[in-house]
Amino acid sequence: MKYLSRLKKLEAQFEHDRLDAAFITHLANVRYLCGFTGSSGVLTFSQGAWELFTDGRYTEQARRQVKSARVRVDALPPIAHAARAIGSRSKRSRGVVRIAIECDYMTLSLRARLTSELEQGIPRSRLRLIETTGLVERLRITKDKEEIDQIRNAINLASSVFPNVLHTIKAQVTENAVAAELEYLARKSGAEKMSFDTIVASGIRSALPHARPSLEKIGRGFVVLDYGVILGGYCSDMTRTVWVGRVDRALQDLYSAVLEAQLAGIAAVHPEVKAQDVDAAARNVLRKHKLDKYFTHSLGHGVGIEIHESPRLARGESQTLEAGMVVTIEPGAYVPGKGGVRIEDMVLVTKTGCEVLTPTPKELVIR
Ligand code: ZN
Ligand code: ZN
Repeated sequence: MKYLSRLKKLEAQFEHDRLDAAFITHLANVRYLCGFTGSSGVLTFSQGAWELFTDGRYTEQARRQVKSARVRVDALPPIAHAARAIGSRSKRSRGVVRIAIECDYMTLSLRARLTSELEQGIPRSRLRLIETTGLVERLRITKDKEEIDQIRNAINLASSVFPNVLHTIKAQVTENAVAAELEYLARKSGAEKMSFDTIVASGIRSALPHARPSLEKIGRGFVVLDYGVILGGYCSDMTRTVWVGRVDRALQDLYSAVLEAQLAGIAAVHPEVKAQDVDAAARNVLRKHKLDKYFTHSLGHGVGIEIHESPRLARGESQTLEAGMVVTIEPGAYVPGKGGVRIEDMVLVTKTGCEVLTPTPKELVIR
């Protein structure tokens, strides 16, 4: 039922945009619209019908997963098969045929193949490819109850391994070893996979916001851990920063300032607030501490089937938040040559404000 209602919403949008047909090629969107989780598939709409085109590896799986669209299997690449089918079906239609493509997810070579197949049935003079962006993503931006439950499960799984990961963080252990332990524990607890490459950054490397774990041994200083898991197809994302060794007063103050900014960001989340104002709420706290120049990225992002989704919580983003959106709040401060701190939770926008979904405590852990 959920797939049918998503497809109906999209059909209304097609009608509004006077689109005769559409090719959904981004697999996250395909999954959202029909439940298909294979790695090769194109979902199309034309003349009132939804069809999923895939190849022989997914015959069984597609038939089991997809009830809201007709499944079509062929040895041809799905995009070619789909374009040929829609081209020949449109042969008898008169006038211009407007066909939507997802331009963020189509290479030039795929587009060339699509066009040449469509032109077998539709003369070039009547074919219009309409480059769309965000057609399906706009539906995905607010999550329904089932999606929120899936996201909660992913978050809880990721958080549940954190106390055990903490035990592995100590002097002389490599960042790689900590990342490996973390991912092993996550997989053993049921994670389908990590939702992005795990970040473990220690010492002065913690000042690199997106450091890859290395063979560097952990020493005195901060260790930033940023990771997430995929469970039931939905992502989680969290960051905690811990301290190893004898404490340093100035760097502890850096931690307190980032935590204050993170709490201010969370407090600013409610329906109707502009995304840029949530970003500003956290950034202003860091400005008060003269640390804003070290906060070099945006405050957060939506999370769902993909790890980075709309909305972006950043300067210049006028999108308003709505109940049902799930976003991260992740301010950081990165002082070159000293170290960096980031603290990240996921929050659900509710009718009255927000609910913090990440249960892991945020007081500075000293190891
Ligand atoms: Zn993260
Ligand atoms: Zn994030």
